[in-house]
Amino acid sequence: MATKKRIQNSFIILLAVFYILASQQLFADQDNLTAFINAVLIDGTGAEPVPKMAILVKGIRIFKVGHVSDMTIPLSASRVDLKGATILPGFFNSHVHAAHDERKLKRWSRGGVTTVKEMGNALGSHTGLRDRLLKDNRNARLIIAGPIVSNPGGYGTWHVSSPKDAKEKINDLIDKGVDFIKIGIEDRQGLKSWPLINGKLVNAIVETAHSRGKSVSCHVTRSKHLVLALDGGTNSLEHMVYDELSDSMIERVVQEGVFWVPTLELWKNVSEQYGDWILRNAVTNLDRFVKSGGKVVLGTDFAGFNAEFDPGMPITEILLMKQASMTPMQIIVSATRNAAQLAGVIKDLGTIEPGKIADMIVIRGNPLTNIKILGEVKMVIKSGEIIKNEFLDDL
Ligand SMILES: [Zn+2]
Repeated sequence: MATKKRIQNSFIILLAVFYILASQQLFADQDNLTAFINAVLIDGTGAEPVPKMAILVKGIRIFKVGHVSDMTIPLSASRVDLKGATILPGFFNSHVHAAHDERKLKRWSRGGVTTVKEMGNALGSHTGLRDRLLKDNRNARLIIAGPIVSNPGGYGTWHVSSPKDAKEKINDLIDKGVDFIKIGIEDRQGLKSWPLINGKLVNAIVETAHSRGKSVSCHVTRSKHLVLALDGGTNSLEHMVYDELSDSMIERVVQEGVFWVPTLELWKNVSEQYGDWILRNAVTNLDRFVKSGGKVVLGTDFAGFNAEFDPGMPITEILLMKQASMTPMQIIVSATRNAAQLAGVIKDLGTIEPGKIADMIVIRGNPLTNIKILGEVKMVIKSGEIIKNEFLDDL
């Protein structure tokens, strides 16, 4: 018994020593200065690329951004010379599933996707699991919806039966720690059908979420259901509709500033099984939406359909967005600034600007003339730490 107690005690002391070392490390890191110099900067705001820039990172955050010749770089800073490279904000994939998985989160971050949005899973212990996964800086950040909310028997697993019930259950989800709310607006997929949610429920869900500062995303796949999402005041439409989209509806979505997450990779996979017209319509609709000034956020629906999806950088989605006439800059903004705005994290992420958390990716060459090189991320910096470096290796 005494021996067991002693072992326990020494274990506790060991833990305490680790804790002290870890906190000292953290403290030291807070003053750590790293200067990333000579890269072309694409800052995620949509501004033109600027050559020969210096980004000074202090601890986890970006401290200064400026032209390399104008900036005094402290002697104590370590220098990372990125001549010949472009530096961009870490990308978001704003529509994925089955993301509570360390292996996947590491693959995403190594591919340049430093944040993913999980769009619906059973609640269970997922908020706890998310918090544990976030402790490893090599994992992509995980922003989660919790379960998909719908009416009884409807498309989702968190059912609300009246506006009062919706208020209680949405407050409950938010108390449990979800980052945003997702509503399922769907009555038919192939041979499956569900009773459709009504406007009163959608309104009550959105109102409650917004009153707690949480955004709402609506799954919707056909034009006739868009009005339910928009009347309710949703922040995003998940999936580009694959039937005919009217000019007046496009105009309304643009006017109301609602983000559209097209998930073209999903439609490509669905098309391979059910016919080309699905992807073709979605691409045409996205093209028209973008030409009308609509705001797009990149998301693929990874693991949302039984098919292969890109595991790291969503290059298939990027190339399909290009097919829908989005410019490389519009695509980059959809995966950075716009994504961070929709997720409510623009204060900390999404662009390379002083004060932001230093999540950045480095590629060789110019993605505006060759978008494909986004698929070859050479360096990933997450929270100011270089978590992948193949840039210096291949000089
Ligand atoms: Zn999905």
